[in-house]
Amino acid sequence: MTRKINLRFLFFIITSIIVTEGSLFAQTADYPANYAKQPRFKALLYYSENVEEAHKEFAKDAIDFFTRLTDGDGYILEITTSLRNYDYDSLKDFNTIIAVNISPSDPEERLLFEKYMENGGGWIGFHAAAYNDINTGWPWFNEFLGCGHFYCNNWPPQPALVETDTSDSPVTKNLPSSFVAPATEWYQWQPSPRENPNVEVLLSLSDKNYPLGLKDVVFYGDFPIVWRNSNYRMIYLNYGHGDKCFSDATQNLLTINAFRYVVSLSPAGNPFWE
Ligand code: ZN
Repeated sequence: MTRKINLRFLFFIITSIIVTEGSLFAQTADYPANYAKQPRFKALLYYSENVEEAHKEFAKDAIDFFTRLTDGDGYILEITTSLRNYDYDSLKDFNTIIAVNISPSDPEERLLFEKYMENGGGWIGFHAAAYNDINTGWPWFNEFLGCGHFYCNNWPPQPALVETDTSDSPVTKNLPSSFVAPATEWYQWQPSPRENPNVEVLLSLSDKNYPLGLKDVVFYGDFPIVWRNSNYRMIYLNYGHGDKCFSDATQNLLTINAFRYVVSLSPAGNPFWE
């Protein structure tokens, strides 16, 4: 009797496995996920230790944030404090640079970066990664950014009401039309990137923030904070000061959207699709 039951049980198990496998196979044909079998692309996070404390705090959080995004080997993240560790051939291997509060300052690094960007390289830059003034002496950089010099900032760092300029872009996908972004120091530029016909402004600080600041107060002015220059595979994000910039889900989504967008425009093809 026991033996008979065991045989029946065995038959049941085998039948179940066949049925389950069959339905799994049927599922894979139109399964909605596209699982990466290996890391899909490489990103280079570029930051500096020789900057003000609040910019280092942001860099520490950015390293943590982008490292967590590699979970499951989605992509390879390399971290550096100098582009001098690379020649053009090794740099072009990276689908994008994530520039965290730094831009190249020596002539060799600048030439390498120009060559990389002029040949389809990617750049997602935060906060002081776009900082430049009359002493920077790098006209190409302004052409690349699509804006003029740093003009003014609020102080101290504070949250601000952000408005999306378009809901049509993958960068603003699923963002509300306005939200309060976490505390940061906001930079305004002169001339504004909005005056550049090659620039698409994606988000701006609302006029409703004025007067913005306590010690340094911004009273007026066009205030784009996220944009892309269509002549390059780039996106600039104005936040990046202090340890609050990754504390908000909406802004984190914006950061991921921007990163994903730059990567998806790779000249070698969109790595998120087969
Ligand atoms: Zn700052």
